[in-house]
Amino acid sequence: MLLAFLSLSLLAAEPTPAAAAPRGFDVVALGVQGGLAQGDLSSFLLARRGQPAYLAVDAGSVLTGLGRSGGPPGPVLRDQIRGWALTDPHLDHVEGLASAVVDDVGTKPVFGLPSTIDALRDHLFNGVLWANFGNEGKDPLRRLRYERMAPARPVHVDDVGVTLEALPLSHGGTTSTAFLISDGDAVVAFLGDTGPDLVEGGSRLGALWERLAPLVRGRKLRAIFVECSYDNARPDALLLGHLTPRHLLVELGALAALVSPQAPSKALQNVVVVVSHIVPTLDGGRSARDLVTSELEAGNKLGVRFLFPAQGERFAL
Ligand SMILES: [Zn+2]
Repeated sequence: MLLAFLSLSLLAAEPTPAAAAPRGFDVVALGVQGGLAQGDLSSFLLARRGQPAYLAVDAGSVLTGLGRSGGPPGPVLRDQIRGWALTDPHLDHVEGLASAVVDDVGTKPVFGLPSTIDALRDHLFNGVLWANFGNEGKDPLRRLRYERMAPARPVHVDDVGVTLEALPLSHGGTTSTAFLISDGDAVVAFLGDTGPDLVEGGSRLGALWERLAPLVRGRKLRAIFVECSYDNARPDALLLGHLTPRHLLVELGALAALVSPQAPSKALQNVVVVVSHIVPTLDGGRSARDLVTSELEAGNKLGVRFLFPAQGERFAL
C-alpha cells in the first residue's frame, strides 16, 4: 500500500508534456455588441492558454476594447496581436482594424474567405477610403498580408500556435464565416453574423453543425461564439441575416440532435455558448441585452451554458 502510494506520488511529481502545456484558450472580449454600438463592436482575442500571442477574431472595436481590458492598448496591439481573422467585411467587424493598423508595426496576416479579403482590398484599404495598408493594389504599405482561405482547408497560424479553418455562412444574401480554431486538441467555433437556415434558405448552419457534432461527441469543442442580434419580437422578414433567441435555440437543437439523437437534452452540456452582437435599442426602456438574455434562458431546454461577456472581460475556455 505504502509502495503503491510512493510510486503514485513519484508519478504525480513527474511533469508530463500534457501537464506542462494545458489545453484550451484565453479570451479577451474587445467588443461584444452589434451594429449600432459604436465603440463596442464585435472583436475577440484568442490565445493558447497562458501564451501571450493572440489571434484577433473580428475587429469592430479594437483600441477601445484594449483600453477597457486593462493597461495601455499599444503594447498588446503591437507585440501580442499576431494576426487578424475576419468573418466578414462589414464595417462593424473591420472598422477597428482600420484604426489599429495606423499604429501597428511589422506585417501581420489577415485571414478570411476570398470574398472578405477582396472587399477589404477593393473597398477599404484602397488608397481612397483609407490608406492602402494591405500588400496588394497600388502603393501598398504592407502592414497587412492578405491570406485568402479555402473553405474547410485549415491553415496553421504559426505565431499563435493554432490552426484556423473557415467555413462559409449565409448572412442575408452575403457570405460570412465560421472559424474553427484549434490548439491541436481543444477547439472553439467562432461564428460571424448569420441568419437561420430556415430564413436564409440554405443549409450552411446545418453543414457547420455536421462538422461540429463529432467534436462535441469527442469532448473537444469548448465553445461556440455566436451572434444573437435581436429579441424574439423581430419579424423574420426584418432579420437582415441575423439570429433571434428563438432561432438560435432551434439551431442549437439541430446540433444537439446530431450529437446525440437519443439524448439531445444532454448533448451540449460541455459546450459554452458565448453570445454577442446583440444590437442595442436607442429609445430607452428594457435593454436588448436584457431581453435576449432572458429569452434565451427561458427557452433553454438543452441546459446550455450561455455566456454574455462584457467589453474588456477576460475568460478561459
Ligand atoms: Zn455585424
